Amino acid sequence: MTTFQDLGVSAPILKALAADGYTAPTPIQQQAIPIVLKGRDLIGLAQTGTGKTAAFAVPMLDRLHQARKHAGEKSCRALVLAPTRELAAQIGDSFRAYGRFLGLSVAVVFGGASMFKQKQALYRGVDVLVATPGRLLDHVAQRSVRLDAVEILVLDEADHMLDMGFIHDLKRIAKLVPVKRQTLFFSATMPAPIAELAGQFLQDAERVAVTPPSTTAERVEQAVVHVDQMKKQDLLHALLADKTITRALVFARTKHGADRVMRKLESAGFDAEAIHGNKSQGQRTRALEAFKKGQARLLVATEIAARGIDVDDVSHVINYDLPNVPEQYVHRIGRTARAGQGGVAISFCAPDERAYLRDIERLTKQAVPVLETDYSLAAPRADERAPRPKGPAQRAHPARKRAPQKHHASEAHGKAHAKQGHGAQRGRDEGDRRDRKGNSVWSNAGAPPKYRKQRKPQGGQR
Ligand code: AMP
Repeated sequence: MTTFQDLGVSAPILKALAADGYTAPTPIQQQAIPIVLKGRDLIGLAQTGTGKTAAFAVPMLDRLHQARKHAGEKSCRALVLAPTRELAAQIGDSFRAYGRFLGLSVAVVFGGASMFKQKQALYRGVDVLVATPGRLLDHVAQRSVRLDAVEILVLDEADHMLDMGFIHDLKRIAKLVPVKRQTLFFSATMPAPIAELAGQFLQDAERVAVTPPSTTAERVEQAVVHVDQMKKQDLLHALLADKTITRALVFARTKHGADRVMRKLESAGFDAEAIHGNKSQGQRTRALEAFKKGQARLLVATEIAARGIDVDDVSHVINYDLPNVPEQYVHRIGRTARAGQGGVAISFCAPDERAYLRDIERLTKQAVPVLETDYSLAAPRADERAPRPKGPAQRAHPARKRAPQKHHASEAHGKAHAKQGHGAQRGRDEGDRRDRKGNSVWSNAGAPPKYRKQRKPQGGQR
């Protein structure tokens, strides 16, 4: 078995890794660490959960340590660019953890936090600066940092940075860093625009690739519930009676959707937090901490806010809404299969989300088993899974419904539910939705719902 020592990692870092319980390098670490230690440029095809942060942070720290020198005032020796605040903060924490016996300095800058404090952190110069692109350029403009001494540049989650519209910022940053440098470029996917971006940053790069999206999907036990949009909240409450759901990340499509789901969870007595772009940085940090510490069993998140969230022991990922980009599905469910573990992902699929489900199944090359619940609509028949019809014809197969169920059994919840305009929810949800590019009430006191037998969808074109 290869060890970190075999890969050439030096003693103080080995000590830190051992203290963190890292016994063996993950595949991306095995491949990437020797390349980075040699000073070569690297293009890494890997997603979160594979150990990619250590794959670049460990050898970078080693190189900075071996060739120790002062960064110079308002300057940095290594610059790591990340798409979101959460990811930047996590990368900073990783550098601090792996480098704790080296005495190298690490600073993290991102939007939504005090410029002043960040300027103070940058004033004397730092060994490692982790930044979101926009805030970094703010600092450049205010002359609180200069990038002409960067020895190593990292672009992490480059595909997300492009999705989030950072392309121009990245191009500007490319002009500010020295031509002679080492560049490491990580992305979970490599469509043409990302490959083109990589070409602009890298020179004679070595390429490593691990865990193509479909294999993460294989480690996670998946299920889909076909459900009416308006019944999703009740279904969620029903599922949560299952105590094996110890820590769940719930994905909603929009910020308002995430807030609505969280409020209803709270009024039904569940411990939930929400994290999305409308929250202040303080609120986001507090929500994430409560979730990490187990004070909140549920974290309701939007795709963007959840990027890079690294929380161990997430038992379940629940897709309250299916993502319209199938790669996002693989990313989401990967949150429950950290560092090689398994997990469960349950997706709620409304009739008008069935095309998204088909895209997901096509990408992962596997059918998602259908979970039958008391809230389930009939699963689409095989002939309904034919290739996507163009335009609005997509809804040409209305799902067969069961007899309506009694809605509210608990008065308290019923009132809260009614106050929030449950009946209007569908309209709002649909209004919120983006296009492909661009009865009983359940409380957590009740018994777990009785699932009917699991049924694999039949054949058809998938
Ligand atoms: P990442 O892909 O960088 O987001 O890492 C995913 C998770 O795996 C993080 O919680 C890391 O702390 C953990 N991890 C990374 N490398 C190792 C390793 N060699 N052994 C055990 N855990 C690891």
